[in-house]
Amino acid sequence: MAKIIDGKAIAAQVKEEVRQKVAQLAEQGVSVCLAVVQVGSDPASSVYVRNKKKACEAVGIKSLSYELPEETTQAELLALVDDLNARADVNGILVQLPLPKGLNEEEILDRISPLKDVDGFHPQNVGCLSVGKPGFVSCTPAGVIQLLKRSGIAIDGQECVVIGRSNIVGKPMGMLLLQENGTVTVTHSHTKDLKEVTKRADILVVAIGKPRMITAEYVKEGATVIDVGIHRGGDGKLCGDVDFDSVEPVAGAITPVPGGVGPMTIAMLMHNCLTSVALQKKISV
Ligand code: NAD
Repeated sequence: MAKIIDGKAIAAQVKEEVRQKVAQLAEQGVSVCLAVVQVGSDPASSVYVRNKKKACEAVGIKSLSYELPEETTQAELLALVDDLNARADVNGILVQLPLPKGLNEEEILDRISPLKDVDGFHPQNVGCLSVGKPGFVSCTPAGVIQLLKRSGIAIDGQECVVIGRSNIVGKPMGMLLLQENGTVTVTHSHTKDLKEVTKRADILVVAIGKPRMITAEYVKEGATVIDVGIHRGGDGKLCGDVDFDSVEPVAGAITPVPGGVGPMTIAMLMHNCLTSVALQKKISV
């Protein structure tokens, strides 16, 4: 029986810590404000945006909401980002992805000030992560590190295998595990004999985007398995990239879906809002 890593409980801990720090800052007259921008009305994006705003409210972070129509042009969106970059009362800027077709996501994300880039997607922050300088770290992989640390799972010296090399999960995940002195292998769709590689892992982080692809055959006995994937099945139930029922009996510890990595992403966004104040005001929080 694997230990079930409770992402909901750990996310609640992180948010409570953020709430306390936000309250301390308020006593010093420092407020924290996140601007959330959504273009169009993609239903999944609307749910994410609503949850992010609710989380802000729960920890005492002010959120400003910009809901723009589907027909918004690149120039209009860039102008809004410029405006938010210039505003002293806005600490963090989040543009919800995906943007409607016709908008150039990369140009928009690159335009967000690296000091307000709470998603950690700006190339300057990605560079800071790779050389170990302070900056914003993408929320989902940062959340995975917190799940491991707060569950008492050692990373130092362990064989860590990441499946997936996306800019928002796989690549920063590899960098963070390396920073924690893991021995890291990042695998992807061109990897030959994936099972042979994943079977070496003490810690296996799965971010493929394929429902229940990872079964027990991919996992070493006693390994920690972190499932980043999230999918809604035909039955309306959520599942991950890992086949939980198959892997749980062989793993030493495993994250469920829902209730594993998902809640950590928003908790780390709240944490990154504190980072934004620290970077802008050159204070430690
Ligand atoms: P992506 O599609 O950008 O990247 C998927 C990666 O998996 C690619 O690098 C690809 O090379 C690799 N891959 C695809 N097929 C493979 C195969 N057969 N063998 C090995 N590697 C393969 O996806 P992403 O944005 O990194 O997201 C991955 C999953 O995580 C998705 O299910 C997504 O919904 C989920 N996600 C969850 C959260 C969260 O908060 N829980 C956040 C971000 C993403």
